[in-house]
Amino acid sequence: MTESKKIPFGRPWIDDRDRNAVMEVLHSPILTHGPQCKAFEQDFAEFMGGGYAATVSSCTAALHLAYFHFGIGVGDEVIVPAQTHTATAHAVELVGATPVFIDCELKTGNLDLSQLESLITPRTKAISLVHFLGISCNMKEIVALAERYDLKVIEDCALAVGTRFQDTHVGLWGDVGCFSFYPVKHITTGDGGMFVSRHQDVVESVKKLRAFGVDRSFSERSLPGMYDVVTLGFNYRMSDIQAALGRQQLAKIGEILARRQENFTQFKTRLSDIGDILILDAVEEDYINSYYCLTVVLQGTLAKKRNEIVTRLKELGIGTSIYYPQPVPRMTYYQKKYSYEETRYPQATIISDCSIAFPVAPHISLEDIEYIVENFQQVLQEIDQ
Ligand SMILES: *Cc1c(COP(=O)(O)O)cnc(C)c1O
Repeated sequence: MTESKKIPFGRPWIDDRDRNAVMEVLHSPILTHGPQCKAFEQDFAEFMGGGYAATVSSCTAALHLAYFHFGIGVGDEVIVPAQTHTATAHAVELVGATPVFIDCELKTGNLDLSQLESLITPRTKAISLVHFLGISCNMKEIVALAERYDLKVIEDCALAVGTRFQDTHVGLWGDVGCFSFYPVKHITTGDGGMFVSRHQDVVESVKKLRAFGVDRSFSERSLPGMYDVVTLGFNYRMSDIQAALGRQQLAKIGEILARRQENFTQFKTRLSDIGDILILDAVEEDYINSYYCLTVVLQGTLAKKRNEIVTRLKELGIGTSIYYPQPVPRMTYYQKKYSYEETRYPQATIISDCSIAFPVAPHISLEDIEYIVENFQQVLQEIDQ
């Protein structure tokens, strides 16, 4: 056994083209409000195959802007997945609205459609959802339900660059899609995000809201320094330094997605002999996955031994993660504010407490996969004695 083996869960793929693009901006006089953000927005819309895009400082900022734009706030309810990143719920809290949590299905980690309608009340203004680990939700059913009750649909696409449902890129099914370019996601700008929508007016509005509510962009000012403020707003901009990096990253997205899919498939094939585990996936025709990671849910007697297994894997140099470490309503902040019923989110609880996420990003080689599977199998055998 190689003692020095070290396989990180995530590692951004940065090459000389990325570095050169950043340096070019640093050699130019314009670091923000420049041409790179605009070009990145166009590139991103082109990649999705439609819609409109606005660069922002993070996915969380994009989510916040979505509720802010729609005027959702105090007294309103938004349905939020229990199994997601805290940001999905925080954005609702930030505008003063109330998140109403919904459990997930165990097969994919996506919100349980069978419970969705029963959570809608006269106060509900929006349904937010996450495409869990890059697996699309059933957008046709969600959008149909939202239309029936006149609700906005906010898609958290943080792990879903490249995820499509019935040939349409996610983020363009609902009213808004929010992407993340945090370092371990599919592509990175250091920190950063993209706000997308199939509605042009929504994106135009958000372009103002992300920059103080100023009425005209830098290039639209006939008199230098002169502008008016027409609405309340934030400073949620992306810089041109980040956008230049994002454009280069996006240029590699085809290869990134292909390598993730290949790694996932190799992994899944090799894990098929192991009993008592479930692999989160959607294999139906309508679903094109972006393969953020490969998540294994431990079952039977293994279920209670997750932390022990992860510790052993770590000792063997195998980087893993947990998506996500707690159902959001169980996090201290939410538990204190809304009180927590242990039994309301059984499937989200299983994913948080009994799953392990393995890496499939481009830094993972076939040799790494073989090393991980071999050792995982060994550890399971030893632990299950
Ligand atoms: C990472 C992540 C976020 C937060 O993204 P930032 O760009 O860091 O704000 C939001 N939602 C989900 C599902 C995530 O995985």
